[in-house]
Amino acid sequence: MAEAARAKPKPTPETQHFWDGTQVGELRLQRCDACSHVYFPPRPFCPSCASRKVSVFKATGKGKLYSYVINHRPAAPGFTPPYAIAVVELDEGPRMMSNIIDCPQTPEALELDMKLEVAFEKLDDQITLPLFRPAKG
Ligand SMILES: [Zn+2]
Repeated sequence: MAEAARAKPKPTPETQHFWDGTQVGELRLQRCDACSHVYFPPRPFCPSCASRKVSVFKATGKGKLYSYVINHRPAAPGFTPPYAIAVVELDEGPRMMSNIIDCPQTPEALELDMKLEVAFEKLDDQITLPLFRPAKG
């Protein structure tokens, strides 16, 4: 695993739809038209069957905490340690690495399988990051 500070994501033609989505408050995934496999991160073909007939759709933004590590190292720019680097399993199936906000960054507070919902944090005019917070209700 790279230890470098999290670099700001750079949209590419393959991921532009995703970043366009976060800017307008949508978490966008792709679904294969041939085999119905839902996947992330973005790519122009299905990782399951290699079909290029894939569609972009808006995910619910809901998921659960699949795993995490708590980083105690000196902060990456914009982060104050300790903070959790989490893997969120979306309700649609794909897993996404993110951060958990509005929650103490402790093992007591971060329960595996806890329900999460997406929250969007605007970094600049190009990039809005999808973060996750404990789901309400
Ligand atoms: Zn497929």
